[in-house]
Amino acid sequence: MTASRALKTIDDLEEAGLIAGTRNAQLSDVAARYAIAVTPAMAALIDPGDPNDPIARQFIPDAAELVRLPQERADPIGDTAHSPVEGIVHRYPDRVLLKAVHVCPVYCRFCFRREMVGPQGLGTLASQAMDRAFAYIADHPEIWEVILTGGDPLVLSPRRLASVMERLAAIDHVKIVRFHTRVPVAEPERVDAAMIAALKASGKTTYLALHANHPRELTMDARAACGRLVDAGIVMVSQSVLLKGVNDDPDTLAALMRAFVENRIKPYYLHHPDLAPGTSHFRLTIEEGQALVASLRGRVSGLCQPAYVLDIPGGHGKTVISASTIADNGGGCYTVADFHGETHAYPPLVTD
Ligand code: SF4
Repeated sequence: MTASRALKTIDDLEEAGLIAGTRNAQLSDVAARYAIAVTPAMAALIDPGDPNDPIARQFIPDAAELVRLPQERADPIGDTAHSPVEGIVHRYPDRVLLKAVHVCPVYCRFCFRREMVGPQGLGTLASQAMDRAFAYIADHPEIWEVILTGGDPLVLSPRRLASVMERLAAIDHVKIVRFHTRVPVAEPERVDAAMIAALKASGKTTYLALHANHPRELTMDARAACGRLVDAGIVMVSQSVLLKGVNDDPDTLAALMRAFVENRIKPYYLHHPDLAPGTSHFRLTIEEGQALVASLRGRVSGLCQPAYVLDIPGGHGKTVISASTIADNGGGCYTVADFHGETHAYPPLVTD
């Protein structure tokens, strides 16, 4: 069955044949806690006959989400600790996140901001909060790059996107505007001429970081959408999350990175999954992740090599997982160095 609209409830998923077997009461508890949305493009990719379908695993709720480990956190990458005004995260000197909207076209079951996104999440930034966010950016000349994230900024209408770009265009010291999005794969039809025009502003370079985790997400429609963006002069990079049961094997990872490169999307980040609540069934060990990343080296082109990164819990920023930034203490415990050179326990020590 092909869905004609996004599937947003357990009933929708059941009617579409995307929940296997008899209804599991625990799924209603998952749905009450975390948002659900599967777009027609993503629903069409799911093979309902495959209990291990990697697309279903990303979007169809699972009772395992009710399992919360002590080290998991509502704000796993520590946005709040670096938020000087609502909607802004200023973690690194030369760039800020601008979280204009907390809605997404699809809701990933492993989402690192799952406590903030969705219909019951933080919503769209009100106009006064937007004013304060732009004032903050204007008042900080060290901000060279603004990263629109959320949520997914490309759920905004072209009119609202254009308004954001116009306001950034008026701030001289901002040179780069980056959008983090899943829209070109999840809702490729949204990427039309009006949206593309809205993403560009005089004097600014627009980057678009595409979030995709499995090569099947790069459908013909998704490839065409990315082609329209790149042809318009928008630079594309990728970001993926290394996920157990989705892309944790060398062939799938290689095919994903090659699909990006074939579509003029430079592999950028491969994220170690964050300590988001109810996501332990997606997490590999860092050792397993390192082995997978090592399997890409030599085997596939240098163009296909992403940086394997960990967002250090507590808001300490990203670190590239390499021999010089991470020490294995045994028993699944590591010491990681942040970009200041300070070291942290990973996973963090549980104090209560
Ligand atoms: S698209 Fe990003 S913000 Fe939205 S649910 Fe997925 S991981 Fe979370």
